Amino acid sequence: MLAPSICNALTIDVEDYFQVSAFAPYIRRDQWTAQECRVERNVDRILAMLAEREVQATFFTLGWVAERYPSLVRRIVDGGHELASHGYGHERASDLSPDAFRQDVTRAKKLLEDLSGNPVKGYRAPSFSIGTGNLWAFDTLAQAGYAYSSSVYPIRHDHYGMPDSPRFAYRLSSGMLEVPVTTVRMMNRNLPSSGGGYFRLLPYAWSRWLLRRVNSQDREAAVFYFHPWEIDVGQPRIAGIDAKTRFRHYVNIARMEDRLRHLLQDFRWGRMDQIFLGAMTHGG
Ligand SMILES: [Zn+2]
Repeated sequence: MLAPSICNALTIDVEDYFQVSAFAPYIRRDQWTAQECRVERNVDRILAMLAEREVQATFFTLGWVAERYPSLVRRIVDGGHELASHGYGHERASDLSPDAFRQDVTRAKKLLEDLSGNPVKGYRAPSFSIGTGNLWAFDTLAQAGYAYSSSVYPIRHDHYGMPDSPRFAYRLSSGMLEVPVTTVRMMNRNLPSSGGGYFRLLPYAWSRWLLRRVNSQDREAAVFYFHPWEIDVGQPRIAGIDAKTRFRHYVNIARMEDRLRHLLQDFRWGRMDQIFLGAMTHGG
């Protein structure tokens, strides 16, 4: 008998190319408004791709973007997708005081709810910036009314990561459900398996193999993520950045859309809330 295929979570972190944390040393926050914004047209392209395949996804949307493009927020919701929060100003949770973090996540939640008319349940920290140094952030998220977070990447990385975190969804004492970004356990370490620069850098067949392994061996739903700027070949190039940042940001951007189309075809995809909150309320 064929096992029913597992529905994986497709997630998009809605931010513009100049808001990426790795660019923070090169583009000051107060220069954001002077940049050419490209996020709206890129999200519209993503919405069209998803509509073609009848896939619904979760859009972790930055408050800063939602405030400037309210009609984009409505198009996300009208497409049947889950609107979730990426915070307001794309500041790493690990750089904020508990009070500043509370203000950021509360402001973003209220803004997204006012614009969409729907409750916002999910949160993803910018740059997966919840780790052992700031576990209090989960309590803050629970107090702010979020039901789940997808803010931990259980890998070793120079900018983020909590390699000892559980690899799949788990509940914290505050009641917050954390759904980490997906990894594959191999040779005593966790390999990144679910998006970002790795997905663009390595052959698609490798990513497909990793995700299939999560579905077939771990018997778990994967959480895949990408950004609107990753499909944007025409984005303005940021001058003067170091070689590693340049490589990570721009590698294989021209191939990304084609890879995403394969990904949509090769797996079943859905929204975070429907996959993880639904299962948990049934005593899973
Ligand atoms: Zn982000």
